[in-house]
Amino acid sequence: MPRGTLARVLPAGRKAPDGRTLLPEHATGKRPLYVQNTCLESIAKIKSATMSMRVAVLGGGVGGLSAAHELIERGFDVSVYERRNVIGGKARSLSVPNTGQDGRKDLPGEHGFRFFPAFYRHLPDTMKRIPYAGNLTVFDNLVHATRILVARAGKPSLILNARIPRNVEDWALTFKDTFRGIGVPDDEVLYFVDRLFTLLTSCPERRIVEYEQIPWWTFINAANHSADYQTLLGKGLTRSLVAVRAQEGSTRTVGYTLLQLLFGLLTHGGFDRLLTGPTSDVWLTPWSSYLQQRGVSFQTSTTIKSLNLSSVGITSVTAETGGQSHQITADYSLCRFPLGSYFYIATTVLESRQSLRFRRWKTWWCSFR
Ligand SMILES: Cc1cc2nc3c(=O)[nH]c(=O)nc-3n(C[C@H](O)[C@H](O)[C@H](O)COP(=O)(O)OP(=O)(O)OC[C@H]3O[C@@H](n4cnc5c(N)ncnc54)[C@H](O)[C@@H]3O)c2cc1C
Repeated sequence: MPRGTLARVLPAGRKAPDGRTLLPEHATGKRPLYVQNTCLESIAKIKSATMSMRVAVLGGGVGGLSAAHELIERGFDVSVYERRNVIGGKARSLSVPNTGQDGRKDLPGEHGFRFFPAFYRHLPDTMKRIPYAGNLTVFDNLVHATRILVARAGKPSLILNARIPRNVEDWALTFKDTFRGIGVPDDEVLYFVDRLFTLLTSCPERRIVEYEQIPWWTFINAANHSADYQTLLGKGLTRSLVAVRAQEGSTRTVGYTLLQLLFGLLTHGGFDRLLTGPTSDVWLTPWSSYLQQRGVSFQTSTTIKSLNLSSVGITSVTAETGGQSHQITADYSLCRFPLGSYFYIATTVLESRQSLRFRRWKTWWCSFR
């Protein structure tokens, strides 16, 4: 029986004919969750075992909120500590001061372009579990892109198709712009496509052992190709796809992200999704409100200063709020801030773990906060 049918006839907590039960918290949601009763008993056991477990989530970006979401659903007592007075980290919207007029809010600005490629799995899953006004979820605020606009300094923008061609106009755009319109000579486009086929036909072992070590720039032989090839297929792709420099991003990361994006073109939804409004309004604020309702405590304007260690691990965390130093104690501490912050607060911890070799990690390009 389709899930939607069950949802309409089955009140929360009641058994379905096949022995499954609708979880109360999903009874009014668009996508009800049914579980086997043995599974319900296990959830109850996990919840009672974790009820008294306190988790300090350090950092209130998407990583910290995701961790808080999963933990609160499993019955942990969760507190999120965030240094800024707003949550959301790099994903939060930043309004442009003094741009609001006639009672309208300041214009929203975004740190990145906030795209949600078709191949993303976990983030949409989380978004489906964040309620939004009108019995919707935050996931309903995603819309499919139909065109990709590549803005170029001093040159006309390129407009490419972002979905399976559906009509004559789409097909014309696909051929004209994807293969000729980008200004890269035909033989170079062919060379690039050949590189993609090489990736597609490589085994998983080669991807990890070999391609992890080769920069994307080297793999596509950018140094020996035209300036347009370098700008669009070298630098532009890596910055756009994974926010790293082509000279440093690995072929494994950049190449396979690109392939997954291209596969997205062959799905009905298409290549990419975008939010219908500022990220904070249509995603992050509803998210933190929902988590608060579920019991997550948010301590903003609180900076983590150090992780205090003993032979058994982290015993407490020293934080500062409003100039006052205080200790955070919890059964678990979960660090969800960027590597740059780890360097600052946890040098001793990480240096004592030789295996991490963290000093070799490169973070300078992408870690502006
Ligand atoms: C330019 C750019 C564009 C991007 N565009 C996209 C995109 O379109 N689509 C996409 O999916 N991804 C995109 N990303 C990636 C995405 O934004 C990040 O992966 C994601 O936001 C990172 O979340 P995070 O929680 O791991 O880290 P952060 O967002 O960095 O969160 C860490 C949090 O920890 C806090 N913190 C740091 N130090 C301390 C401390 N000592 N004490 C307390 N709190 C602390 C910070 O204030 C911050 O709120 C982009 C990234 C960049 C740089």
